[in-house]
Amino acid sequence: MTPYVADPVYLNGRFLPLAEAGISPLDRGFLYGDGVYEVIPVYGRRLFRLPHHFARLDASLGSIHLLNPLSLKAWQAIFARLVESIPAEDQSIYLQVTRGAAPRDHAFPKETTPTVFAYAAPLKYPEAAQLRDGVGAITVPDIRWLRCDIKAIALLPNVLMRQQAAEAGAAEAILVRDGIATEGSASNIFAVIDNTLVTPPKGPFILPGVTRDLVLELARAHQIPCAERALRADELFRASELMLSSSTKELLPITRVDDKAIGTGQPGPLHLRLHALYQDYKRDFRAGRVD
Ligand code: PLP
Repeated sequence: MTPYVADPVYLNGRFLPLAEAGISPLDRGFLYGDGVYEVIPVYGRRLFRLPHHFARLDASLGSIHLLNPLSLKAWQAIFARLVESIPAEDQSIYLQVTRGAAPRDHAFPKETTPTVFAYAAPLKYPEAAQLRDGVGAITVPDIRWLRCDIKAIALLPNVLMRQQAAEAGAAEAILVRDGIATEGSASNIFAVIDNTLVTPPKGPFILPGVTRDLVLELARAHQIPCAERALRADELFRASELMLSSSTKELLPITRVDDKAIGTGQPGPLHLRLHALYQDYKRDFRAGRVD
């Protein structure tokens, strides 16, 4: 079987086979989930929305009181080497920075060297059937903390909620906090209500998705009415369309929630339009026409 992670991987200044990449069991990422990560899609061997991913990485690192351990130039050199080691034109880059290894104590150690890990893998596209028919979702209580804006590696609540969705035969869990739908377990959400594209506002309750921002940017550039506002959970069921967005899923229609059909139960016209705009943008990016 071809391994999903392509060799070599990058770990702490070295490129080496995955099988030889090891970290200390005292790494605070392993012990506490004390670290942050990014996932960056690569189209035609170019890193998509790189400045946006870097801005978010810096924000996540800043929120956990870590400095970015590498310069942008150093990161780019690592990515170039990882990307060139895979035959696929479209890939995804995973990168993770933890506070490093230190004797176990909750408070930050006085001195540690962050652990830096990155790898590239061939991009897994959403399945054609998911785009054609839409996916199902369930609503679940948002059991996470109050800093969901940090792209933290500590994903246990997300893992549990996504597993709940999987066991219900759904592709995603839509998280509900105090009656408000925040986002998916690994995606942002959009609803079409009264012909307006509605998505929850940025803040502590959602991850500021890079794809979310691009979808809004494309919608606004094409005069599609948009609103960033709180979305009540009951509004999900009166929306004419629902969608989820993420770097690897792009923009997928959600056609059933808690076994109830959304709109006509089929992907709607705004999804079709926005998905086409997104694909056009990717085509322009591949061709070097947009950054
Ligand atoms: N929200 C959560 C909780 C996520 O984990 C993700 C991506 O993994 C997103 C939103 C979407 O973010 P992006 O579009 O930057 O991939």
